[in-house]
Amino acid sequence: MPIPLVTASLMHDWPRPEAAFLFLDFDGTLVDIASTPDGICVPPDLPDLLAGLWHRTDGRACIVSGRSVDDLAQYLPDFPGDLYGGHGAQARIAGDMRDHHLAGSPAILQYQAAIRDFVADHAGTLAEMKAAGAVLHFRNAPDLAAEATRFAEQLVEDDPDMVAHPAKMAMELKPADVDKGGVVSSLLRDGVTPLFCGDDTTDEAGFAVVNTAGGHSIKVGEGETQARWRVPDPATMRRVLKDWLAGGTQ
Ligand SMILES: [Mg+2]
Repeated sequence: MPIPLVTASLMHDWPRPEAAFLFLDFDGTLVDIASTPDGICVPPDLPDLLAGLWHRTDGRACIVSGRSVDDLAQYLPDFPGDLYGGHGAQARIAGDMRDHHLAGSPAILQYQAAIRDFVADHAGTLAEMKAAGAVLHFRNAPDLAAEATRFAEQLVEDDPDMVAHPAKMAMELKPADVDKGGVVSSLLRDGVTPLFCGDDTTDEAGFAVVNTAGGHSIKVGEGETQARWRVPDPATMRRVLKDWLAGGTQ
């Protein structure tokens, strides 16, 4: 069943920022996806928008991304809020860094080396390293999607501590006990309503927790989702967030 597009009138059901906890994915949600992870362009209006959201929610606006925290901080150097990277395997909370216990472990280094080897042998694929995982991108080699997916799945199939999770034109190896829903669960509290904005399959875990908590889940772009609302693209997502700050008017 189609889910409703966010409109000004529907936004009247949302809590005011002062009573909300805002969880924001980054790529494909706040910024357009590029052909490579480092090819993205941060829109000029995004830093002020994020600062405004952070202030109005009394610090309850955070980024929850698959990227590493260092990567996020590089793109958002002035963002004062908490950053959750690697889907929650890594965090910068009130300026303090926290890493998953598997970060830098021999097993992780072995998986990273295997993905680097695969990329060296398969033109067009790309390796992205995380402290507690790695991503095998095949956006620029779509013909290799099946082979790359199978390779990533087989790498961790005998390791109960790790999973191979499909993402947009990529396969991600990450700790099995980490997902975005876990980040939301750890931060839920009485008196504030959670909102989660995301575009990818890894955001569905966040949507699920927010829905159960009576919050609002917003899917950016096409695709099957359990989110309650949809916007077509990151530019519209940013405009909706601006309107929300301004009181729901357009
Ligand atoms: Mg995304």
